[in-house]
Amino acid sequence: MDPSRALAGSRMRGIEKTLIRRMHDLADPSCIDLGLGELRFPTPRPILDHVRENLDGWKLGYTPNEGYAELRGLIAEKSRVPVTADRICVTVGAQEALLAVLMVVVDRGDEVLVPDPGFPAYPSLVRMAGGEPKSYPLRREHGFRLKADDVLAGIGERTKAVILNSPNNPTGAVYEEAELKKLADGLRAAPVLAISDEVYKEIAFGAPPPSIASFSDRCAVIDSFSKSFCLTGWRIGWCAVPAELVGPLASFHQLAVTCAPAISQRAAIQALRGAADADRARNVAELKARRDFAAACLRRHSDLGFVLPEGAFYLFVDVAPKRAGFGGSLDIALKLLAEDKVVTIPGVAFGSGGEGWLRLSFASEPETLEEGIRRIGRRLAGRQA
Ligand code: PLP
Repeated sequence: MDPSRALAGSRMRGIEKTLIRRMHDLADPSCIDLGLGELRFPTPRPILDHVRENLDGWKLGYTPNEGYAELRGLIAEKSRVPVTADRICVTVGAQEALLAVLMVVVDRGDEVLVPDPGFPAYPSLVRMAGGEPKSYPLRREHGFRLKADDVLAGIGERTKAVILNSPNNPTGAVYEEAELKKLADGLRAAPVLAISDEVYKEIAFGAPPPSIASFSDRCAVIDSFSKSFCLTGWRIGWCAVPAELVGPLASFHQLAVTCAPAISQRAAIQALRGAADADRARNVAELKARRDFAAACLRRHSDLGFVLPEGAFYLFVDVAPKRAGFGGSLDIALKLLAEDKVVTIPGVAFGSGGEGWLRLSFASEPETLEEGIRRIGRRLAGRQA
């Protein structure tokens, strides 16, 4: 055998950690962090108390592969989207749910449509599953909301699925019901599977975000307890899939992870029993106040344009007019990190449609937000492309 043969196979060639993580890895503790997509609120006290009080009595062995029946039942009952317990698989965060669905749907060479700008994991996960990501635009002139025609125009012979994400990371846009209905009709005719990533659906500042699952059963819903209940590190999410995918998805999930952590499933059950509803409502109200505060800070400390987000906890800020002397959004973000000690995420991390933008998380405390935005405004003051 060739002794110089590489250990790494080709599957992960060209696939790296997302730029979001890499920006974070570059930061030191003295930095103001407007980067990572994580709430700063603690895990709700009623969930922690419940876990603490019951820990000794629980058997924390393997759970059924698809998750505790009680949890799947509660997810079906409490979810605003029409999903049934027999179609639900409890996963290790939404991240595993996304990979699992793609692994069972995508054949080598299939295309999957992904949003641009969009969550950077999508194209990489599609590639890991053997497919080819093809982007569809989310346009600034529509407030970055999805237009069904922009998605349908991208569908070709090889298109197997389309990934949707509302409320959206990185723009905070919430899609309109009429466009989702129109898209559902178009996808049914194609036929193409909708993969609807709804991890931010509880963090919306207006009416509850509509879901394409209300208009189509050719749809996989992806969701998670990470953002809704501040359970990021507990790694607990779920997906609900069409009947045909239940078996293959269960096999993939069993072989990959066996089951989601038992203790996290217990915490999720308690969350869905309503224990943390008051915390969640308070957190969403607080995030809305922080959004408005961050927007006011941007107006006060800078002349940067932005689109006011309707959900999630990100402000997408237009730095295109400021590129002179910098280069692209990555150069701007690196400069802000090195010289001003502020972590931001360059828009190009979300695809070429994000170039010229920076994503700022407004999950931080108001004083931190203001100081971070003040530094950004100072760095970019007066520069014109
Ligand atoms: N989908 C989107 C759009 C996200 O922003 C994230 C995390 O930031 C995820 C999925 C992954 O969530 P989880 O922590 O449940 O794996």
